[in-house]
Amino acid sequence: MARDTGSILPHPAVFLATFAVTAVAWTAAGLLWSAEAHAFAVSAFLLGLSLGPCLTAYATAPRAQKQRQRRLVLFTGGLSILAPALLAGVSLDLEGFFGALWAGTAGAAVGHTLVSVILGPLVFGRVLCGWGCWRAMVLELLPLRRAIPGARRGAWPVLPYLGLAISGGAAVLASGRSHGLTAALVAGGVYYGSSIGMAVAFRDPRAFCKHLCPSSAILRWTSRPALLRVAADPAACDGCGACSRVCPMEVDVAGAAAGARRIGSGDCILCQRCVQACTRGALRLRWGRATTKDPTPRTAAAPCR
Ligand code: SF4
Ligand code: SF4
Repeated sequence: MARDTGSILPHPAVFLATFAVTAVAWTAAGLLWSAEAHAFAVSAFLLGLSLGPCLTAYATAPRAQKQRQRRLVLFTGGLSILAPALLAGVSLDLEGFFGALWAGTAGAAVGHTLVSVILGPLVFGRVLCGWGCWRAMVLELLPLRRAIPGARRGAWPVLPYLGLAISGGAAVLASGRSHGLTAALVAGGVYYGSSIGMAVAFRDPRAFCKHLCPSSAILRWTSRPALLRVAADPAACDGCGACSRVCPMEVDVAGAAAGARRIGSGDCILCQRCVQACTRGALRLRWGRATTKDPTPRTAAAPCR
């Protein structure tokens, strides 16, 4: 008989951890506000909102509503990154990171990139992409469904490295010339213009994430040894393929489930759509060390969803 895992609540320790993070973030927000660092205070407040109340709403939601709740976590998390750029002209993105390295300084962008793009993914995978990216928070609102099936081969897999080179080059060229809000607006316009344009052209909200995002060029490698992954129980899987059909990143989830592997693809953004699509409860998020069996390719020909 089909098993439904949609209403299972997480361990109480998860709630304690999320609210501990919120308490720290909101305390930091208060301290930053008193120090007149208003943009970072807003950012810390939004981060606490995302990781506490919004994440709890996701964890306790019935299966049918989980993706809507995840988008709320994504939206508040994404805004926490966007806030310093819009309110103080300080980019927490890769351009801010490269600019700081070029200038030989350290700052918020260096800390943010180390935590969310380089070191954090070693443990938590691409959680940033599924739960806290300021580009994806808008992309996931677009009324689009992937309509061009199958992974793009040829030059497509190298394009994110081109994006990374453009990001680094732009940061170095802008160094000492363009500052503050103007630079943030230009960068935001380029990112939103290219990502929304690709989404519409390919009728795929995550086309930019798969094919051009400079952060993904790093994340697909730093997330490889991640301890947090979707894992499959092959005894419960009936091979229906529903998990692969809903995956926005075209990961071969069904193939991994059949082979009793965890989803080791550097493309997995931990959105858990596959987990919620599986009515047999064959997929779950689990902790564990990466193994050589883990790497998972993209689907060869994913049907439209
Ligand atoms: S791939 Fe890039 S644009 Fe897409 S969610 Fe990740 S960081 Fe954001
Ligand atoms: S494999 Fe599952 S969790 Fe990973 S991106 Fe695809 S649907 Fe989301």
